[in-house]
Parts: sequence; C-alpha cells; structure tokens
Amino acid sequence: MSNIFKTDVAIIGAGPVGLFAVFELGLYDMRAALIDVLPMVGGQCSELYPEKPIYDIPALPSVTGQELTDRLMEQIKPFNPQFFLDQSADRLEKTADDLWQITTSDNNIIQAKVLVIATGGGLFSPKKPALDNIEAYENQSVFYAVKNVDQFKDKNLVIAGGGDSALDWALYFVPLAKQVTLVHHRDGFKAAPDSVNKMKELVASGQMNFEVASLDAIQGTAPQLTAIEVTNKVSGEKKLIPADFLLPFYGLTMKAGPIGSFGIQMENNLIPVDTEKFETNIPSIFSIGDINNYAGKQKLILSGFHEAALMAKGAFSYVYPDKKFRFQYTTSSTGLQKKLGVDA
Ligand SMILES: Cc1cc2nc3c(=O)[nH]c(=O)nc-3n(C[C@H](O)[C@H](O)[C@H](O)COP(=O)(O)OP(=O)(O)OC[C@H]3O[C@@H](n4cnc5c(N)ncnc54)[C@H](O)[C@@H]3O)c2cc1C
Repeated sequence: MSNIFKTDVAIIGAGPVGLFAVFELGLYDMRAALIDVLPMVGGQCSELYPEKPIYDIPALPSVTGQELTDRLMEQIKPFNPQFFLDQSADRLEKTADDLWQITTSDNNIIQAKVLVIATGGGLFSPKKPALDNIEAYENQSVFYAVKNVDQFKDKNLVIAGGGDSALDWALYFVPLAKQVTLVHHRDGFKAAPDSVNKMKELVASGQMNFEVASLDAIQGTAPQLTAIEVTNKVSGEKKLIPADFLLPFYGLTMKAGPIGSFGIQMENNLIPVDTEKFETNIPSIFSIGDINNYAGKQKLILSGFHEAALMAKGAFSYVYPDKKFRFQYTTSSTGLQKKLGVDA
C-alpha cells in the first residue's frame, strides 16, 4: 500500500536551492515537501564538499558546505517541511482533481498544486577506478568524498586523481595524515596551477609522495585495505604503497535521471525557464538551481536563492488563485515575523 501525502508545493531535490525554496514559499503560506534520492539534505554541498569553505555566499565570508546546509535547515524550521529522503522521484502524473502526483522509489505518493524541479546536477555518482572488488572496501577504507576529516588523521592515505579535488585534499591532509601519496597517471594536472606548485614543493621537501602511476589492485582483507599496488607509467616498475585509505577523485558522472521522462522540455539535460518566474514549458511546474537554464545562467548557490524567491511569487498564483500576491519585507512585516516565530 502506498502512502499519499498532500501539500501545496512538492520540491524534487533537497540541495541548497530546494531547501531555501521552502523558506520563500513558507513566507507566503505555501507548505512544501522535499524529495531527495540522497539519505541527507544539502545536495552537492553536503555530498561533495561538506568540509570545504564557500566564500561567495552573501554576508557569510566563509562557510563550509555542511555549515551552509545546517544554517538553511535552521532557517526553514518554522515552516516544518516534510522530507522524503533516500528515495528518487520516479513518476509524475496528473490526478483527476488537477494535482501533480509524484511517486517515489519507496512508493510514497506526494500530491501538490505546484511542482518544483530543483534536481541540480541530477543523480550524481563518482567515477570509480577499475579495481577488482573495490565495492567491498567502499565507505570503509575507500571513499569518493571526504565527509569526516578526523577519520583520516595520522593514517596512510593514497589519493588518486589530477583535478582540484585530488590536489586540494592531498594538500589539506599533508599536515594531518601520517603519510600522503598522490597517484596520477601523468605528470600533468587539471587542478589549479597554484595547487600543483604547492604539491611539488611538498614532494621536493619530502613532506608527501607523488607517483606517476596507474592503480593496479587493492591489497587487504575487505573492508580494510592495507596497500595499493601501482605501476609506474615511466619505468613500468610495480610498487606497493602501504595505505589505510584510498581516496579516488576521478570526477562525477551526472545523469538527469527519471525527471528526463516527465515530459518537461529539456535541452542538453537542462530545463529552459523564463526569468520572471522560473517556470518550465508546463504551467505550475517550476525549475530552480543548477538544473535550469536561461540566458546568462550561472551555476551558483546565490543565483539559485534568487530564483527560489521569484519562483515562490509565481507558485502563489497556483496555490492561491483567488488571492493577490503582496510583497513584504521580513524586517517590517509583523505577519511574516509571526510565521518565523520571531514576533516581538
Ligand atoms: C566542488 C564544488 C565546489 C563548489 N563551490 C561553489 C562555491 O564556492 N560557490 C557556489 O555558489 N557554488 C559552488 N558550487 C556549486 C554549488 O554546489 C551548486 O550551484 C549548488 O549545489 C546547486 O544547488 P541545487 O540545489 O540546485 O542542486 P544540488 O546541490 O545538485 O542538489 C540537487 C539535489 O537533487 C537530488 N536529486 C536529483 N535528481 C533527483 C530525483 N530524480 N529524485 C530525488 N532527488 C533527486 C540530488 O540528490 C541532490 O541532492 C560548487 C560545486 C562543487 C561540485
């Protein structure tokens, strides 16, 4: 038996932009439910860079991906959104009484007057090295993202890759880990030149190791690895690098996922929207954040926040067709302050 949950606005994607949309909708009395395939909220911020500082959120000179997510959760608390986590939005239909009906992979059914697509980079999964039985070590001694830096302190780390993530984390862990070895298949990098120079200085001074090599095999007893076998790309020499953890950073593959079959117009896996309301080609379906596209679009969190505010104004006309949208400031509206629970 499926559970049916009714709300005003269903938001697919609980990344930073989907979360902030709850706030903007809540100010104007629209209840929201969020669906996310990940077991936690925060999208790219909490999945890909929870411990990295972001420097371009207005008025927050530095905030990590996880802190930003936590702050957004605090900000939307007064509106008590319903979360459907760890399940993807798989099917979209229209009910007889003109509601959008979303069925999730856990067979939950969410019905809403308005649908917001905030699926960002889509369903993302890490590109993995082709190593036998790597799955048996994943999330124990092989990690594709750093979520808890403490577990790597005083350990032997093998970091693989040549992009910004590999270099940034290698540099980050040099003072903390017992030993850091960067493994990349060539002596050329996609990472920022400044990071590459810093890495080379640390290698020259003996503070970290760098191998121009391919990863061949994991040694250990699953789920705990003990060493990584590599082959030097220049000499062909095989080598065993003692390791407690392997951190491969080979980038991500992003897929639009099931929303590609919802009938919403898409171009190059992005959803074209107008810039007045961020509505799609289907009335009452809106799209905000990294998944949408329009002239001048920048995939920035602050752009998504702006889009969420204008989307809420557009959504209001569907949720309350007989009411006029009345713009208000949170600083001066006692009505809004009451909703936020901060009325004096
Ligand atoms: C390493 C890195 C550093 C960055 N640094 C910055 C920075 O400094 N400043 C900045 O402004 N931006 C930065 N960004 C970009 C920023 O993270 C994105 O712009 C932002 O996350 C977009 O938010 P979003 O909510 O639109 O999408 P996302 O964060 O991608 O969240 C979308 C959510 O939708 C979910 N989802 C997708 N499809 C489905 C489905 N069918 N069903 C259910 N759930 C689904 C996903 O699981 C995900 O949780 C950075 C990105 C990366 C990768």
